Amino acid sequence: MGSASADGQLDAIVIGWGKGGKTLAGTLARAGQRVALIEQSTQMHGGTCINIGCVPTKALIHDAESRDGAGYDQQAFQAAVQRRGKLTAMMRAKNFSMLDDLESVLLVNGKAAFTGPRSVRVTAGSDELELSAAKTIINTGALPAVPDIQGAQIGGRVHDSTTIQHAQLPKTLAVVGGGYVGIEFASMFAQFGSKVTVLDRGSRALSKEDPDVAREVQSCLEDAGAVITSSASVRSISQDEHGATVSYERQGRMHQLKADAVLIALGRVPNTAGLGLEAAGVRTGTRGEVVVDEFLATNVQGIYALGDANGGPQFTYVSLDDHRVVASVLLGDGTRSTKRRVAVPYTIFTTPPLARVGLSEEQAEQQGLQVRIAVKKVSQIAAMPRPKIVGDPRGIIKFVVDARSEKILGAALMHVDSQEVVNLVALAMRQRMTAAALRDQIFTHPSSTEALNEVLAQLG
Ligand SMILES: Cc1cc2nc3c(=O)[nH]c(=O)nc-3n(C[C@H](O)[C@H](O)[C@H](O)COP(=O)(O)OP(=O)(O)OC[C@H]3O[C@@H](n4cnc5c(N)ncnc54)[C@H](O)[C@@H]3O)c2cc1C
Repeated sequence: MGSASADGQLDAIVIGWGKGGKTLAGTLARAGQRVALIEQSTQMHGGTCINIGCVPTKALIHDAESRDGAGYDQQAFQAAVQRRGKLTAMMRAKNFSMLDDLESVLLVNGKAAFTGPRSVRVTAGSDELELSAAKTIINTGALPAVPDIQGAQIGGRVHDSTTIQHAQLPKTLAVVGGGYVGIEFASMFAQFGSKVTVLDRGSRALSKEDPDVAREVQSCLEDAGAVITSSASVRSISQDEHGATVSYERQGRMHQLKADAVLIALGRVPNTAGLGLEAAGVRTGTRGEVVVDEFLATNVQGIYALGDANGGPQFTYVSLDDHRVVASVLLGDGTRSTKRRVAVPYTIFTTPPLARVGLSEEQAEQQGLQVRIAVKKVSQIAAMPRPKIVGDPRGIIKFVVDARSEKILGAALMHVDSQEVVNLVALAMRQRMTAAALRDQIFTHPSSTEALNEVLAQLG
C-alpha cells in the first residue's frame, strides 16, 4: 500500500492529498523530516482541485466558451471531456512524482482513521497499516452536501459536481442550488448547448451579490441559454428512463421541471466522518468541521487541520495559505495566522467571470459604513479596449470606497480577465491604498486592468 518503506520513526502524518497537505508534506520533507502522506484514492493524487474541482471544470468552461454560441453538440462536449481527462491525468502523475521523488516522504494508498491522538490506521482492502507520529495534519477536504430531499440521492440522472463531469451532455439540465458551483456548471452546460434551469432558494438570483452586479451575471447566463428561478424550494426529484422531474414550491404553489439530468449543487461539507476523530479526542463543529484556532491547531496537541476540513473558505488558495500557517508553526517563528488574512478574493467562472473582493455595497451598508460607489458597465468604459478585442464587451465594474478614509472596501469585477485583475485590487486593499492612488497607477495597454484608471476617476 505504500510506495516507500514504513520502517523507522515518522515525524508527521498528513491525511489527505489536498493542496495544503501535499505542500506541507513537501516542505517538511525538504526540512529533513520523515512524513507519511495518506490518500484514499489513486484517482485523487493531487486532491480535489486538479482531479474533480478547479482545473477540470475550468478546462471544460474554456472549451465551452470557445464554441461561441454554437448549439447542442454531444461530440464537442465529449472532445472537451477527453482533453480535460488528459490534462488531469498529467497533473495527477506530476503531483505523485513531486512527492514520490522525495526520499523522506512515504506515500500510502488507503483510508486513514485515528486510533488515538498519536496513531492512525490505514486500511486498503484487507491490508492494514498502523502509523504513529507526534504531529498529524488533517487535510481530508469536503464532500457535496446530501440534501434531505426525496429522490436527491446521486445515481442515474441525478448528479453531483463530480459525476456530472463524466455524464453525457444533457439536452436539458436542472441545477438545484445557485451557489458558485451551480452557477459555473449552468454557464458551462448552457454554452455546450444544454437548456439549463437553476432552481435557487434565494429571494433573488445571486443574492450575495449587489443587485446591479447580479443582474449583469444573470443577463450573461440568459444570453447563453440558462435561466435562474429564484425563491424555488425543491421538494422531490423522480426519474425514469424518459427523464427526471424536479418538483419545487414557489410562492405557495407547486411546480414541476422536467430535465434529462439534475445537478445537485447545495454546497460542500467538511469530510470528517469516519476519520476516527473521537478516538483522538479532536473536537468538531456543527457541520462536522475540525475546530481549529488561528494557527490551525486543534484542541489536541500536535494535530492540525488544513483546507476545507477545518470549515474555512472552500478555495484551493486558502488551503495553500493554511499550509503557510502550519509551516510557520512547525518550522518558522510561528507568527503567521489566519487572523492576518485580509481581502481574500474569489472568482465565479461564468462567461465573463465575476471576481469579488471585500465588501459589496449592501454588506458595507449593513455594517453602517458611509460609502462612495464607482460603477460602470464594461460596454461604457472607453479606455478598456481589451474586452472588445477578444469579442466579449459585457459586464460591470463596481468599487465600494469608504467615504471618510477613501480606502477601497471592496470590488466586483465582471469582465474578461477579471480573475486576474481582482488579485491586483486585493493587493491594493492589503496595502491600504486609497482609491485615488489605485486610479493613478500606470497600467499596460490594451489590458483589462487599465479600466481601473477610468472607473475610479468617477470618484473625482
Ligand atoms: C466543482 C468544483 C469546482 C471548484 N472550483 C474552484 C476554483 O475554481 N477555485 C478554487 O480555489 N477552488 C475551487 N473549488 C474548491 C477547491 O477544489 C477546494 O477548496 C480545495 O480543493 C480543497 O482542498 P483541500 O486541501 O481542503 O483538500 P482536497 O483537495 O479536497 O483533498 C482532500 C483529499 O483527502 C482525501 N481523503 C479524504 N478522507 C481521507 C481519509 N480518511 N484517508 C485518506 N485520504 C482521505 C480525499 O480523497 C482527497 O483527495 C472547487 C470545488 C469543486 C467541487
